[in-house]
Amino acid sequence: MRILVVEDEPRIAKDISDGLTAAGYVAEVARDGEDAWFRGETENYDAIVLDLGLPRLDGLSVLKRLRAAAVTTPVLILTARDGWREKVEGIDAGADDYLTKPFRIEELLARLRAITRRAAGHASSLVSVGPLEIDTRAQSVSVDGKAVALSALEYRLLSYLVLHRGRAVSQTELLDHIHSGDSDRDTNAVEALVARLRRKLGAPVIETRRGYGYCIAADGP
Ligand code: CA
Repeated sequence: MRILVVEDEPRIAKDISDGLTAAGYVAEVARDGEDAWFRGETENYDAIVLDLGLPRLDGLSVLKRLRAAAVTTPVLILTARDGWREKVEGIDAGADDYLTKPFRIEELLARLRAITRRAAGHASSLVSVGPLEIDTRAQSVSVDGKAVALSALEYRLLSYLVLHRGRAVSQTELLDHIHSGDSDRDTNAVEALVARLRRKLGAPVIETRRGYGYCIAADGP
């Protein structure tokens, strides 16, 4: 999962992005509202963590512009302790949830899990497709009830396909969501990763869409 963190305070931005990375997310940081608006509109994120007090363009305006441009990415806003008015305005402007500063990274992670799950249309952290079951909270995977040990990268790829099951996902889209912007962007690497994943799962859940990418059928293999 790829998350855009919009925060102008470098220490907070780093804490959030470190916490997200440690939890297996790909985190990108935008430091002002203009950059956040541009990236939120042109790139595809799984969620946006949006501070409201930002230079160049405030967070509420960023949110309103994104929603006006029909960007439906789940947004978690960060508000000041006594900012009840900005919470109300934020939710009215299309925020999915809010978190009051200061907060624990664990709470941010829990809220992100909830809004990304809701966005994908699942109410629980357990998702099963045929013999495959993944727990997005524990980040664990099992096939026919037997646990399968996956690397962080393999898990990211699999969970992305599972959350978007029933839809073919291109190799480029997968690359965007499993790597940070600066890492290796070789589609051969995706093929190798999928091959390894298929071997580990041992069940034919991941279908190839030739010349395009991969798909997990909504009702399993
Ligand atoms: Ca700020």
